[in-house]
Amino acid sequence: MDIKQNIDLIHQRIKDVLLKTGRRPDDVTLVGVTKNIPVDIINHAVSHGLLELGENRVQELVEKHELISGVRWHMIGRLQRNKVKYIVDKVALIHSLDSLSLAREINRHAERIQRVVPVLVQVNAANEETKAGLPFEETIPFIESIYNLKFIKVMGLMLIAPLTDDPETVRPYFRAMKQLFDNLKENDYPHTDIKYLSMGMTNDFEVAIEEGSNMVRIGTAIFGKREKGE
Ligand SMILES: *Cc1c(COP(=O)(O)O)cnc(C)c1O
Repeated sequence: MDIKQNIDLIHQRIKDVLLKTGRRPDDVTLVGVTKNIPVDIINHAVSHGLLELGENRVQELVEKHELISGVRWHMIGRLQRNKVKYIVDKVALIHSLDSLSLAREINRHAERIQRVVPVLVQVNAANEETKAGLPFEETIPFIESIYNLKFIKVMGLMLIAPLTDDPETVRPYFRAMKQLFDNLKENDYPHTDIKYLSMGMTNDFEVAIEEGSNMVRIGTAIFGKREKGE
């Protein structure tokens, strides 16, 4: 498998959608999802310009953070409160904030190191029982409720769309998320700086971008099928 070719192809596909929809060709940030991928393969991808990396487990992020330099780390998976302390100084963006208790814990550790930590609020737009994220309607009230946590900066929203073979079936969720994102931006709360709408994975990123995503998280299309599960 040729990783450089995969990365180039993803960039091309992203650009094609952006041109088609009249947006700037650099309007989408590609986050390469490196979970279960060995360090030497990741380094190969980094050498070909993949500089934003996403991990969904704290331990893996911490280990790889030590071995791979010159990149920005994204925490994209479920984050347990007792593990916040290990990553609060290492992440460029936490995509998976979805509770007040987690927000307080991030804020507490961020204050300890005097760093304002950028976060996205994860939304469970399809109300899937097995999925993390806040119910769609609770998202804005939740964000309003954490205005006093001075060491968290809410930068936008994240969605993991329901798994499907046909991305058209999840287009309505992407569309609803874009609307929520625009509302938030308009509200312009002082503790927010609404910039990122993180949605779109290997199977659905083109539809997500068509609907307004500006950050995609892609693993399989870059690194191939993972050996282990999620
Ligand atoms: C694994 C994962 C991805 C990437 O999924 P692919 O289908 O391999 O592109 C994106 N986001 C999250 C939260 C993930 O856990």
